[in-house]
Amino acid sequence: MSDLVLVLNSGSSSIKYQLLHAVSAQVLASGIVEKIGESHGGRIVHEAGAAELEYEGAIPDHRAGLLRAFEMFRQSGLDLTTIGIGAVGHRVVHGGEVFWEPTLITDDVLRAIDELSVLAPLHNPANVVGIESTRELLPGVPEVAVFDTAFFHAMPDAAKTYAIDAKLAAAHGIRKYGFHGTSHQYVSEKAAEYLGRPAGELNQIVFHLGNGASASSIRGGVAIDTTMGMTPLEGLVMGTRPGDLDPGVTPYLMRAADLDVSQVEQLLNRGSGLKGMSGVNDFRELQQLIDGGDTQAKLAYYVYIHRLRRYLGAYLVQLGTVDAIVFTAGVGENSPAVRADALAGLQAMGIEIDPSRNETRAPGIRRISPESAPVTVLVVPTNEELAIARAAHELVGAH
Ligand code: AMP
Repeated sequence: MSDLVLVLNSGSSSIKYQLLHAVSAQVLASGIVEKIGESHGGRIVHEAGAAELEYEGAIPDHRAGLLRAFEMFRQSGLDLTTIGIGAVGHRVVHGGEVFWEPTLITDDVLRAIDELSVLAPLHNPANVVGIESTRELLPGVPEVAVFDTAFFHAMPDAAKTYAIDAKLAAAHGIRKYGFHGTSHQYVSEKAAEYLGRPAGELNQIVFHLGNGASASSIRGGVAIDTTMGMTPLEGLVMGTRPGDLDPGVTPYLMRAADLDVSQVEQLLNRGSGLKGMSGVNDFRELQQLIDGGDTQAKLAYYVYIHRLRRYLGAYLVQLGTVDAIVFTAGVGENSPAVRADALAGLQAMGIEIDPSRNETRAPGIRRISPESAPVTVLVVPTNEELAIARAAHELVGAH
């Protein structure tokens, strides 16, 4: 069976895609479709080897975006309908209590993913449209859903349960599910490989710090807690989301600022976090503002670090002993300042960073703690596309 997999990550107004070999990890092409359904700014950037193609113009919906992207594949010498794709792997955000393994997509599975849209109204509908589009454009190619919630399926009830009315919680599926699971699992397995020990023997704390951000506490390869909740709003401070917030703030805001449900949702998903506090959500821009003396940006940075350390403390206590602390994603992989500030002053607990290792940029996995430190601190580049491609290839191969 061909190990060539098309991986799709469909968001509400964007699609990221990659065509890659699941076994060798060789990427043939990748791209992003942006501002789907918006009147301005529609754009596709497609890279295949040395070729970079760009399209600018309105993209009315996901299907139209994918059709354009497929055309760009053809222009770059890769006809997706004839190249011999073995599987399409879809990142699906919410698996609810229904899915926790990579799943071959049938009509029933697609319907169930659609039904889970009540839990993830901003994400699952886009995933459904992405799946419907590729089913139509690549008929006969097996499609696999890989769920962002899957890795957190085995969290203990004490970690999963919200302290609200139990009947209401059960009736509406209200509990902690966690997200970014594919990334947390991938980097924790890579960390184990790097340390030359089975993941089942290691306790790890993983910080996935990108535009969205989450942390997880992993005992012997199994996630026992994570910061994101029923939705991706809970936990760490993110680019545009607040993370933990007194639940009383929402009804108060609705009354005091006269906001309706969708305005509050918009505020919490797009107008909070670093962006809400400082005006920018990109960490590089935040750093520039701080360097220029912007006090709001500086405060936003310290709120971000404060929250991160709060969870670090919680997870250290949960695990008792920690073998590795792992940083990944855009900020985690690229900001030495965040890593240093997150772990500052913890030598007495065996947690230390070597400043020169921390500052040195290098591709691939690297240790940033001194060799002698009891806790190994690693930077591990995440690769959700590869993890999805491998899961899809494995599942399809097994059928
Ligand atoms: P991701 O969601 O993983 O793509 O990460 C996006 C975030 O990573 C954005 O906030 C970027 O500003 C941040 N990022 C990317 N490169 C750097 C860098 N060199 N230094 C600091 N932050 C970075």
